[in-house]
Amino acid sequence: MLKLYNTLTRKKQVFKSIKKKHVGMYTCGPTVYGPGHLGHGRSYVNFDVLKRVFLYNKNNVKHILNITDVHDDMIKKANELGITIKELANKYTPLFLKDLDDLNIIPADKYPAVTENIPEIIKMVKSLIDKGYGYIEKDGSVYYDVSKFKNYGKLSGTKLEKAKTGTRVKTDKYEKEDVADFALWKGWEKREPFWKSPWGKGRPGWHIECSVMAKKYLGNTIDLHGGAMDLKFPHHENEIAQSEAANGVKFVNYWFHAGLLEIEGQKMSKSLNNYIEIHEIKDKRFNPLSLRYLFLTAHYRSKMNFTWKGLKAAETALDRLREVIRELKASTKQTTSNKTAKDYQEKFLKFINNDLNIPRALALMWDLIKDKNLSNKEKYKLLLDFDKVFGLKLSEIKEVKIPEKIKKLSKQREQLRNKDQWQKADEIRKQIEKMGYRIEDTEKGTKIKKL
Ligand SMILES: [Zn+2]
Repeated sequence: MLKLYNTLTRKKQVFKSIKKKHVGMYTCGPTVYGPGHLGHGRSYVNFDVLKRVFLYNKNNVKHILNITDVHDDMIKKANELGITIKELANKYTPLFLKDLDDLNIIPADKYPAVTENIPEIIKMVKSLIDKGYGYIEKDGSVYYDVSKFKNYGKLSGTKLEKAKTGTRVKTDKYEKEDVADFALWKGWEKREPFWKSPWGKGRPGWHIECSVMAKKYLGNTIDLHGGAMDLKFPHHENEIAQSEAANGVKFVNYWFHAGLLEIEGQKMSKSLNNYIEIHEIKDKRFNPLSLRYLFLTAHYRSKMNFTWKGLKAAETALDRLREVIRELKASTKQTTSNKTAKDYQEKFLKFINNDLNIPRALALMWDLIKDKNLSNKEKYKLLLDFDKVFGLKLSEIKEVKIPEKIKKLSKQREQLRNKDQWQKADEIRKQIEKMGYRIEDTEKGTKIKKL
C-alpha cells in the first residue's frame, strides 16, 4: 500500500489509481532554450523514483512529459542567437534526453511538444471563451478571468484579492503576489513566432499546454501530476483553473511536488550565476550515477543542498557499492537464510511505500551488506531487487577477471613480504599498479582491484 503526500490535500494519502494497476502520470518538462541544470536533474530523478516505485508495486505506468518549445524564454534566446525557436529546440531537446539517459531515468511514453499541439490548444482556449472563463483583449490576446473560477488557489493556498481582480499578466512566469488574469493566448508582437487563431495571429500562453496534453494523452481526470515545488504557483494553479473549467471535472487526484536544490548553501539564481548544468558533472569526470546516488540521499520533498564535496562522497559510496556487487557476484559460497532476506524485503517495501522514504531504504541497503545472517547470494539478489527503485545500474556491473599474470605477481609479492623483503615486495606492487591493478592488504588477506 503506497502512501504519498498530496499537495492538494496537504496530507499523506493511500494512493489509488482510477483504473486498477494502471497509473497515468504527467510531469512538467523543460523549456528547451538551454542545457538543464542540477535543479532540473534532481526533479527528474525524483519523478523517476516515483515511477519506479509504482512499477515495483506492479502497476503499469503511462508517463507523459511535455517539451515547452514556445515560451517567453525560448523567443528571447532564439532572437539573441538570431535563430528560430525550432532551431533552438532542435539543439536542446536531444541534450535534455541525453541528461535523462545519463541519470538512468526511464523514458516517458511520450514527449509531446507545444508546437505539435496548436490545434488542440486553440480548441481548449475556444471552449474556455465559450464557457465564460476566457475573454479577448484588443491586441488579440485571450486571458483567463481568475475571479470566475471559484476554487482558484486551492492547490497553493494563494488567495485572490478583490483589489487585483481584472488585472492582467502576460508574461509566462510571474510571482506569488501577482494573482491576476493570465494569458491563454498571446496576441502577436514583433519578432515573435505566430500561428493563426480565431482571435488573430499569436501564440499560446505557457500554462495551457499542460492542460491540453494531459487531457489528450491521459484523459480529463488524471491520477498524478508532478512538478518542481516552484511550479505550484502560478503554473499548476492555472492548469487546474483551465482544465476544470474546460472539462467540468476534477483535473488531478494526486499532486506530487519535488523539493528544490540549493548550490553550496545558496538559492540557484540568475543574479548569483550559480547554475551548474547537468553535463558539467561528466565534464568534471564524475559518473552521472553518483549524482543520482546523491539525490537519493535526501527525501524528495526536502530542500537539498548540493556541494561538490557531497558529490565526491556520493561517488565514493557508489564505488564502494559497485565493489560490493563485484565481490558478491564472484563469491560462490552459498548458505540460505530466507527469513532474514524476507525481513529486508518487507522493510524495503515499507520504506519506499511510506511517501518514498528512499534515504531510509538506502540505509537499509548498507545494513544488509553488513549482515552476517545473509548469504552472499541472498545479498546479491536483494541488492539487485532494491536497485529496481534506486536505478544505479547495479545489474550491469561486471565481474573483474584478474589476469593470471597479475595473480602470480601478487603471490610473489606476498612471499617476499613473508620473508620481510619489503623493498622488493613494494617494487612488485608498483609493477602491478603500472599494469592497471591495485593491491590492497586487508584483514582477510590481499585483494586485487582494477584501477
Ligand atoms: Zn506544466
